Amino acid sequence: MKDSQPFPFEIGHGLIERVSEQLPPYVAFVAPEPWELAGARLRRVPRRVVEAGALEHGYLDELAASVVGVEAVVGLGGGSALDTAKFVAWRTGLPLWQFPSIASVDAVFTRPVGVREERRVRYVGSAIPQLVAADLDLLCAAPPELNRAGVGDILSCHTGLHDWRLAQGDAEAPPLDGELVDLSLRLVAGLRRHAGAIAAVDEEGLTFILGAYREEGAVGDAVGHSYFEEGSEHYVAYCFERLTGRHLVHGELITLGVLAMVIAQDNAVEETATLVGSLRVRCLPGELDISYAVFDEVLKALPAYCAQEGFPRSVAHTLPDKTRGAILAQFAAWERGGLPRP
Ligand SMILES: [Zn+2]
Repeated sequence: MKDSQPFPFEIGHGLIERVSEQLPPYVAFVAPEPWELAGARLRRVPRRVVEAGALEHGYLDELAASVVGVEAVVGLGGGSALDTAKFVAWRTGLPLWQFPSIASVDAVFTRPVGVREERRVRYVGSAIPQLVAADLDLLCAAPPELNRAGVGDILSCHTGLHDWRLAQGDAEAPPLDGELVDLSLRLVAGLRRHAGAIAAVDEEGLTFILGAYREEGAVGDAVGHSYFEEGSEHYVAYCFERLTGRHLVHGELITLGVLAMVIAQDNAVEETATLVGSLRVRCLPGELDISYAVFDEVLKALPAYCAQEGFPRSVAHTLPDKTRGAILAQFAAWERGGLPRP
């Protein structure tokens, strides 16, 4: 594995006050709710505050061009605010400070920015923050389900790793790497170990989720691929978004994808469902306001969608009717009786 340097990171109380005290004149890209809570705690107020919105490439370009008279860029909020700040820091070359307000944002620990172009995600640019400052008081003020959703992009290691094995021998698939396999297994084992803390959204749980993202981000940047952390469960989510035009909480939709794909992979179904249940992350269609007719449509469309998008080979590329039926039946059973208990 190439050298991978995790981003500078601090987690604790009073970070908003302490870190903001040292900031040069800056522009802040924020989400409204965390800004309400954190704005008054800043020791140095921003020169300009911009409410982050859509991540349309054209709009971000305009935004970056409008930034003048400041020496730094700050992101404060969830994915949109942090990605907007990252993009502007990249385009302007200004140093970046990031204050995540929820734990469910792996983008805070990756260099490229996922911009939208005609409803597709494209990764552009690269920015490394001076510091990712995870203020626990800010994080704990967020709705608990948004923090729990952070498990989605860690659970995805479980299904992603299986797909990576499946893709071995394909020209574009990197060969399995022992260190990366160990990392995937270790992160999922960590979820098991910290499940109670994550469900309770306490400091231990938040620290684990953000630490896991930090590690995934550093390793992903170093090896230049994400086979060890994502696969078919993400394709389920993308296919859902393409078909419905809806955008759900990423980690919740990914967790639904994980549960669907472990059935297709025949990959520790009971164990994974038990883990998801103990993490208390919302993920069943009923909880996410997805009808079973739509869920079925998504699964039907999945193989053609994967081929069309040219995704790395995965279990989602071939989903026989029998498997689709098994997924729907299993989800209906979980919906009725709840996920299995440990
Ligand atoms: Zn993801």
